[in-house]
Amino acid sequence: MNLKNQYLIDLLETVKKRNAGEPEFIQAVTEVLETLEPVVEKRPDLVEAGVLERIVEPERQIMFRVPWVDDNGKVQVNRGFRVQFNSAIGPYKGGIRLHPSVYLGIIKFLGFEQVFKNSLTTLPMGGGKGGSDFDPKGKSDGEVMRFCQSFMTELSKHIGADCDVPAGDIGTGGREIGYMFGQYKRLRNEFTGVLTGKGLTYGGSLARTEATGYGLLYFTNEMLQANGMSLEGKTVVISGSGNVAIYATEKATQYGAKVVALSDSNGYIYDKNGIDLPLVKQLKEVERKRIKEYVNTHPEAEYHEGCKGIWTIPCDIALPCATQNEIDKESAEILVKNGCKVVSEGANMPSTPEAIETYLSNGILYGPAKAANAGGVATSGLEMSQNSERLSWTFEEVDAKLHGIMKDIFKSCDEAAKEYGMEGNYMAGANIAGFLKVAEAMKAQGCV
Ligand code: NDP
Repeated sequence: MNLKNQYLIDLLETVKKRNAGEPEFIQAVTEVLETLEPVVEKRPDLVEAGVLERIVEPERQIMFRVPWVDDNGKVQVNRGFRVQFNSAIGPYKGGIRLHPSVYLGIIKFLGFEQVFKNSLTTLPMGGGKGGSDFDPKGKSDGEVMRFCQSFMTELSKHIGADCDVPAGDIGTGGREIGYMFGQYKRLRNEFTGVLTGKGLTYGGSLARTEATGYGLLYFTNEMLQANGMSLEGKTVVISGSGNVAIYATEKATQYGAKVVALSDSNGYIYDKNGIDLPLVKQLKEVERKRIKEYVNTHPEAEYHEGCKGIWTIPCDIALPCATQNEIDKESAEILVKNGCKVVSEGANMPSTPEAIETYLSNGILYGPAKAANAGGVATSGLEMSQNSERLSWTFEEVDAKLHGIMKDIFKSCDEAAKEYGMEGNYMAGANIAGFLKVAEAMKAQGCV
């Protein structure tokens, strides 16, 4: 897709100049602006109010030093980030990514996406994101704790239950959230819902761990049903083997599909009999081992080095659940050639723009990340509600609310795509529906 509207072309040029050296952020903004073309033409009042110029600029960006001492007594220094992108519809909300690839551009792309995603959930949450180039892999619990405490010592000055509520993301699971929560409580002497994804003994919500993966499948199921298909009997390939991938595998299997592959950043496993999920949970959640260990107990399965090869496995449905830009044009073309009919995104921005073009021009049903993986943050929103009420709901209650939210998200995407003449383009629908709510709120609040 190429922009035709001169106002949007000029705006994108400004974004490119102002954010040079941040290709992921520019990619995320470009995709959204391209799909907002019909909105800009229909809503000159939003242009007049400068909503677009403001929505592409974070409200606040914080960068800080994170010093900590490793097990050998040596000082290590990482860089910490928090980008508070947009608070028009609620407190900033978005995860913390701990991965060596993290720099400002990654956090900005994630924060920008989060604004639209949070809007789609129908809950009152603005968009933000944070993280660090710290790599928890291979670190002892003590090292992870000292890093998390140092990270939170600075972050605590900028967040709060009614201001900015971080959560997990790549590299930040229950262990890291626990250490960060403990440090926040110690520094502020207050027990509040300042983080989500907490443990069940100190304010966490049932079903939060499962939420992103389950939500992805609830969304995908809606999309399939709306197009006369179902998950029953389908072969599914899922990348990653972290939080999202594991619970996507669990729910896909419950829907009667067969998941045959998972991966990590070293390689992928292919088990034509269907993935043994209890084993994967043991390896990844308990022992923190590599996915290749799977074949030690399943010699009939195959392990291959490298991540990209996973997309050469024939499947009906592909669910990328690892990281950004993991499916490029070449992989998308192989998926199409092998008869894949559905791509639905658990990870954030896992498909390159050329891959998305390939899906859309070949009639693949495409569930964009902003909508399809919104179940995690939606359930974080439910965790915030429970913390405010000082109550906790049952697993069934939270799961039922999550299911309802994912159905509504699909409906909003579908309806917005139809209203703006792009029926079946759920990416456009997600961007438009997510944008409009935030834009109305920004306009109503004046030039802030
Ligand atoms: P985890 O850290 O639990 O798992 C990430 C998985 O992806 C691991 O298997 C990891 O392998 C793999 N991975 C990470 N980086 C790369 C890379 N550069 N190349 C190949 N594989 C990689 O993270 P989550 O499951 O929480 O997150 C996965 C995706 O889902 C991310 O895009 C995240 O932003 C998105 N997401 C997560 C939500 C949540 O609630 N957790 C909510 C919404 C979106 P390895 O162990 O080798 O690093």
